[in-house]
Amino acid sequence: MYCRKCGAQNDDNANKCLQCGEALQTTAKNVELPQKIPNYLAQSILVTIFCCLPFGIAAIVFAAQVNSKIQAGDIQGAMASSRMAKIWSWWAFGVGIVFQIAYGAFTLFIETARTL
Ligand SMILES: [Zn+2]
Repeated sequence: MYCRKCGAQNDDNANKCLQCGEALQTTAKNVELPQKIPNYLAQSILVTIFCCLPFGIAAIVFAAQVNSKIQAGDIQGAMASSRMAKIWSWWAFGVGIVFQIAYGAFTLFIETARTL
């Protein structure tokens, strides 16, 4: 496991961090709410509107899971969803840009072809 204070890797059974001495064996009830897990919801919605609808919707679905998983205590799951939301929103963004460029090039081609 990794120390949540300094990030050093420790043995899974270690009671405290070798590097900084932070207590590692925390019971479920005193685990403070995680280092804020970003849910990427705002980005997901923006890319859905402006870039790429299908990928954006995938990002929104994952983004929406983040908070509910945090509330359910599923931190691992929340982090996984957060990662997926990030990946999908970047894909949506990238694909959106590519489509814009392709569309621009296509329009230019049509315009050029028309004037020849
Ligand atoms: Zn540490």
